[in-house]
Formats: sequence, structure tokens, C-alpha cells
Amino acid sequence: MSTYKLLLLPGDGIGTEIMREMEKITQWLTAQGIIFFETETDLVGGASYDAHGTPVTDAVVAQALKADAVFMGAVGGPKWADVGFANRPEAALLRLRADLDVFANLRPAICYPALVGASSLKPELVEGLDILIVRELTSGVYFREPKEIVTLEDGSKRATDTQIYTTGEIERIAKVAFELAQQRRNKVSSAEKHNVMASGILWKQIVTQVGKELYPSVELEHVLADNCAMQLVRQPKQFDVIVTDNLFGDILSDVAAMLTGSLGMLPSASLGNTNPVTGRRFALYEPVHGSAPDIAGQNAANPLAMIGSLAMALRYSFDRGDVAEKLEKAIINVLANGTRTRDIADGAQAVGTSAMGDAVLAELQ
Ligand code: ATP
Ligand code: MG
Repeated sequence: MSTYKLLLLPGDGIGTEIMREMEKITQWLTAQGIIFFETETDLVGGASYDAHGTPVTDAVVAQALKADAVFMGAVGGPKWADVGFANRPEAALLRLRADLDVFANLRPAICYPALVGASSLKPELVEGLDILIVRELTSGVYFREPKEIVTLEDGSKRATDTQIYTTGEIERIAKVAFELAQQRRNKVSSAEKHNVMASGILWKQIVTQVGKELYPSVELEHVLADNCAMQLVRQPKQFDVIVTDNLFGDILSDVAAMLTGSLGMLPSASLGNTNPVTGRRFALYEPVHGSAPDIAGQNAANPLAMIGSLAMALRYSFDRGDVAEKLEKAIINVLANGTRTRDIADGAQAVGTSAMGDAVLAELQ
């Protein structure tokens, strides 16, 4: 069996605490001979700025380009508020996404059975919830030019952002969505605004074409992005895979996040094209949440989003859905046993970050 190279970039704040818990699991899987991982750990974000004067070094980017998968903890914090725009810790994340060209951001929204009764949730809406949002991550209105604020003759200003999508960009994200749907419940919902946007018209057209030509057995529906937001709140279980552009995906995935109980529960994967060095897709795995400076260093962070990101890697980078399922089952069981970090304790007794990691490991064993 081959050994896979993982690059671990814990980053700042709770990033280092949750990465430690994930690493317990990669070490155990390797020791058991279930799958072999070789890990290398390096600095990113504020930690890298402090050591090297830049939030991500060329050496780290070079390592990322050779790795079978990259794992990020989280970056940022008040300590780096004044380092300037180019050196802000978040710039590291944008550079890694761009250099790996991870254009497909996958965000599952799963409501674990033990959290269905959480005070913030409506049980009938979220029981059994399992949605996957596939967001285009490297194009669209966040990236395209012109992007500017100009002063007009009368002294007032004009701000411009530009929404552009090409056939190729839509095709590749659509393929990812259809392929994932085939591994799930065989349904893709494509969200755009073809009623008011040219990019929405092309989006709908290309997604339809890709579906018809390559994935005729997958059910495809088109939904206007605003209606999609409403449906996510009203009746979320109607969705399986939602594919959408960068801007709508940003918003819709945050809406979906609220259906799961806590930010500390949500993993993500960002996938690109096949890496010629590894023969696998470029892949960056990270929790959806940030560095949580308010609880950093207190052993209070929930490591399940990070551990869930490892499960995604097992499934999407290493074709080990069997191990991913075991790990996800361990998370489900730990929650069912009543083990809770503070963010999901609903005011009840909570355990620390490391105890939560240990509990998942014990459950795996
Ligand atoms: P970013 O801009 O980096 O996304 P943010 O300000 O949006 O950061 P987070 O750092 O994600 O926010 O934190 C938002 C809130 O959620 C904070 O109160 C934080 O403590 C909490 N939080 C985030 N992640 C976790 C976690 N893994 N466990 C427990 N609480 C968390
Ligand atoms: Mg945030």
C-alpha cells in the first residue's frame, strides 16, 4: 500500500489545538495499517508572518503543490490587525487556494442525530439532514476585473465588481457536482439567477448540457438562488447536492451552516484538477470556522470540524469511503454518548478539545 503525504498547516489561534486532535487520528490510522500517512507540519498565517515576515512562504507553497492533501487549521487574530493588507494572515489562504487552483469548494451540512434537539434547531426540519454544497471558489464576482472604486467628476464615487463565468469554468464545477451526486442521492440542484444575470443564463445552459451529455441518470433541477435560500430555511431536506457560483455559494453555505448546530462542526474540502505529481486532485481541507481568538489557548475549541475534514479527505482524496464512514460513525457515537464541547453543550457540562479528540479515537478503536 502506498504512503500518502499530508501537509499540515495548523495556523493560528485554535488552529493548532484542533490540528493536534486530527493528527492523533492520522497517527492511529497509520499505526493500525489502515492507511499510511506521512505528515509534515509547517507555519501559515500570523505564525508564518512572525517567523518569516510573510503569511505563507514560497517553500510552503512548493510543499503544498507536492502533497497528496493539504490540511489548514485556521488563520488570523487581533495580533496581526496592523500588518498591512498584503501580509494579513488571510492572504495565505487566498494564495494557497489560487496556487493549487482548488476551484470546487465542498461544504457538507449534516445535522448529527444527537444535535437534532439543540435549542437553536427545529427537529422536524433538520432530522436526517445531509446536504452538500458545491461552490465555485476561484472565479466570479470576487475575482474578476475590473474591480475598483473611482471618483467621478462631480466628486461622487463609483464602485465596480465584475461577474464573469466562462463555459470551461462552469463545466468543471458542474462535473464535480454531478460526480459527487452519483456517490450520494443522485440529485443536483443548480442555483443561479438566470432571470436577471447573463452569467446565470450561461450557468443554467452549461450545467444542463453537462448533465444531459455526461450524467443522464442524475436528476437535475434549476433553482433561483434567492428561492434556494428560502427553501434551505423552509424545507432543507429536499436538497442533495447544490451547485452554485462563488457569491451565491458563500451565502447559501452559511445559511446551510445554521441548520447543523454549530460552526465548530462543519468541515470543508476544496478540490482542483489532477496534480501531475501525485495523480490525485489538488485538495485543501479545512474547517469552515475561523481561528476563534476568543477561546484560543483554552482547550475549549470543538475539533470535530477538523476531524470531519479528515473524513472528507479519506473519501475524496484517498478513495477510502469505508474509513471515512467509520470516522463519521465514531463522531456520531461520541455525540450520542453525550460528549460535548462548550459550543454544542447548550449550557450543559462540556469537555475540552483534547478530551473530545480522545473520545473520537477511543470510539474508533
Ligand atoms: P473568520 O473571519 O476567520 O472566519 P470569524 O470572526 O468569522 O473568523 P470564528 O473565528 O469562526 O469567526 O469564530 C466565530 C465564533 O464561533 C467565535 O465565538 C468562536 O469562538 C466560535 N467558534 C468558531 N470555531 C469554533 C470551534 N471549533 N469550537 C468552538 N467554537 C468555535
Ligand atoms: Mg467568518
